[in-house]
Amino acid sequence: MITGKTKLLGVIGHPIEHSLSPVMHNAAIAALGVDYVYLPFPIDPINLRRALDGFEVIGLQGFSVTIPHKQAIMPLLNEISETAKAIGAVNTVCRTASGWYGTNTDLDGFLAPLQSQNWAEATALILGNGGAARAVVAGCYQIGCRQIHVVGRDRQKLKTFWQSWQDHPVSAHLFVAEWQELPDRLSQANLLVNTTPIGMAPDADRSPIDPALLEKLPAGAIAYDLIYTPRPTKFLQQAAAQGCVAIDGLEMLVQQGAVALQLWLKQSVPVEVMRSALLDFLR
Ligand code: NAP
Repeated sequence: MITGKTKLLGVIGHPIEHSLSPVMHNAAIAALGVDYVYLPFPIDPINLRRALDGFEVIGLQGFSVTIPHKQAIMPLLNEISETAKAIGAVNTVCRTASGWYGTNTDLDGFLAPLQSQNWAEATALILGNGGAARAVVAGCYQIGCRQIHVVGRDRQKLKTFWQSWQDHPVSAHLFVAEWQELPDRLSQANLLVNTTPIGMAPDADRSPIDPALLEKLPAGAIAYDLIYTPRPTKFLQQAAAQGCVAIDGLEMLVQQGAVALQLWLKQSVPVEVMRSALLDFLR
């Protein structure tokens, strides 16, 4: 029940209607029996600063940040975690005694399904060089990948992406390449990650990669698609047909949300409830 004492959490984005975060967070809040509610806030970029002022006034305890605010919000916060600084984006904001604290839990979410394996000598190949690719690069570095290759379609954006990591130790392991160089890189890739939106519903019949090229992957390679609708994507279906282990983006979504909720509530959260709520909703 929402009363005058109920504490507020939420998610900001523009648009925000598609967000699945309220589904999983409110399911966890209900299961825990804590007096919180998690709401979607559609915030036009032009109103971002005013929205933060408003959140302070109404006592919002914390919020998730999605497109297009993940980078724009950084200069408006009082403190930013080292992780978020390295990634260059914030997806979670907490109210603290000294103001707004921003961090990035996409990295935790991305890594969650990969933790059981040793990646020390591994090579990662990342398709796309947008916002999510930044968390993936940081994650691949954190688990110890020896080489991290990022393939993109725009030479200038790739150069900017590469330059943005030059003050970070990942730079010694990071290589960028244009899309036409993809076939040459595949034979080394133990982990192939799609961070482009190619194959996301409603374009579910598309794949970022020619299925014939997937034959080049080494035995035991893992194919990871950040997309979670549809499940599985065309890319993951094709990779599984080649014998790859396939991981979709649902677990990343669940785990990044679980880490955020844990930060806001300062207690452990029911990850399985969050996962089931999302699965039920997507079904
Ligand atoms: P983004 O910042 O817009 O980046 C998208 C990247 O894909 C860009 O590098 C873009 O290239 C590239 N791209 C787009 N269309 C392409 C095409 N037709 N051919 C080649 N490259 C193409 O988006 P994002 O925030 O990184 O999100 C990317 C995907 O990850 C989305 O599907 C999103 O839903 C998913 N995601 C999932 C989770 C999760 O929790 N599972 C979390 C975050 C994101 P240009 O820069 O050249 O346009």
